[in-house]
Amino acid sequence: MTHQQIWDAVLAEFELSVSRANFITWFHNTGISHFEKGNVIITVPTAFAKTWLEKKYHSQILHAIERISGLGVQKIYYKVEQTNPAARTAQPQAVAPVQASGATTPANTPAAQTPATVNPQQQQPVRSSSDPMPTVNEFGLNPRYVFETFIVGKTNELAHAAAQAVASRPGVAYNPLFIYGGVGLGKTHLLQAIGNELLRTQKIKNCIYVTCEKFTNDFLNSVRTGSAKEFKNRYRNVDLLMIDDVQFIAGKERTQEEFFHTFNELHQANKQIILSSDRPPKAISLEERLKSRFEWGMIVDVAPPDLETRIAILESKCNDRQYRLSKELLAIIATMVQNNIRELEGALNKIMAWHELKNITPTEDSVRSILSTVETTGTRQPKSPKAIVEIVAEFYGLPLNEILGSSREKRLAFPRQIIMYILREELKLSYPSIGEELGGRDHTTAMHAHNKISTEVKNNLQLKQEIEGIKARLTSEG
Ligand code: ADP
Ligand code: MG
Repeated sequence: MTHQQIWDAVLAEFELSVSRANFITWFHNTGISHFEKGNVIITVPTAFAKTWLEKKYHSQILHAIERISGLGVQKIYYKVEQTNPAARTAQPQAVAPVQASGATTPANTPAAQTPATVNPQQQQPVRSSSDPMPTVNEFGLNPRYVFETFIVGKTNELAHAAAQAVASRPGVAYNPLFIYGGVGLGKTHLLQAIGNELLRTQKIKNCIYVTCEKFTNDFLNSVRTGSAKEFKNRYRNVDLLMIDDVQFIAGKERTQEEFFHTFNELHQANKQIILSSDRPPKAISLEERLKSRFEWGMIVDVAPPDLETRIAILESKCNDRQYRLSKELLAIIATMVQNNIRELEGALNKIMAWHELKNITPTEDSVRSILSTVETTGTRQPKSPKAIVEIVAEFYGLPLNEILGSSREKRLAFPRQIIMYILREELKLSYPSIGEELGGRDHTTAMHAHNKISTEVKNNLQLKQEIEGIKARLTSEG
């Protein structure tokens, strides 16, 4: 195994066991640069990440490396190395070893950062030490995702009610249940809460939770290795199948075909199916017969929470971690981070981590200045025009050359207009430049497209949701 492979496998484990926000904060841009005679050097992008890996994750990292590589580890050194040119502000840190015994060096040089200099590259942070690290169980479920920890507000109450109905009468109430909405709004949480609840109440004996991406890869692997039968046995013999982010199946015909049959078998046997997606079934580029099946049961959406709900969510996360923040401070956080619950959690984590490291009590000033460095959806770097074109093409499952080509077929013309609309709205590009980006079209075409979509989006809820889905992708990482 190469260092890279070992580290990739370690990361894959952490990705399953820590929240997304933590994963991004602490493991983004990390690597193994050296592994010899039991000495390992792990490179990290910031001093902040270094301290946290040492303090919170050291023994897990050590065990994971040993298990995966089959080699003993004596010492791990965490070394700050700037991989990202944009982050080149912090000074590289001296390398201090952490003993393999698990006795981590105390953070005696914790990120010597004041709130104002906290590196924005850190994006979204942390879990506090009082918050135990969850693991994923044999069904792929994270025990953290249960109904008890899900806060209900106006924008998710329907989805929550439907999820509860399914959890009390699986296979009967709504089958399938289809939950859609933007990133970080609780879809995965709800899916898994249903699974966890059904297992707890023993209404089901087994289930599978997978991302659609994993389902697709499993299927393609099974075809390649001649184990299609095992694949079928696995996915068609469960009491509950949860497929997350099902939009990933767009444009993948063979996987759709396989999923169609899986769906039918489970459905006929009254086994529950739950799906999530960043957009409604209608807006996924899918075979008609599969689309219509997705619409058989119940379709519900989740939308960004209102202020009151955001405060309630923060309150509950603080309680979970036995961390105290005044109402005023909670309100400040909830006002500054609006779009996405994952970011809200990330902001809270960052505040907790920072004050814990510094051992000081949060004040309005310290909270505000930490938040000013938290990148929220609204403040991230805008994508390039090219990236936007690609994202929209992918969203609709269309090849780039067709989108940029000259065909006026509706299936192409409409997404093309959406691209022009988004280029104008998001990047404020001039109409001539928009025409240019789309394979040299006339500026009047761009103007017409922008007008048309602007009008239509006001009256067409589905279109509005599609555009929100696309915008969410423009601001997600990567
Ligand atoms: P999605 O799958 O829609 O992208 P997730 O389910 O992964 O979003 O949610 C992102 C984070 O926000 C998770 O840590 C989740 O526990 C938390 N979260 C989302 N919605 C709620 C809610 N209503 N109450 C409490 N936590 C929530
Ligand atoms: Mg999700």
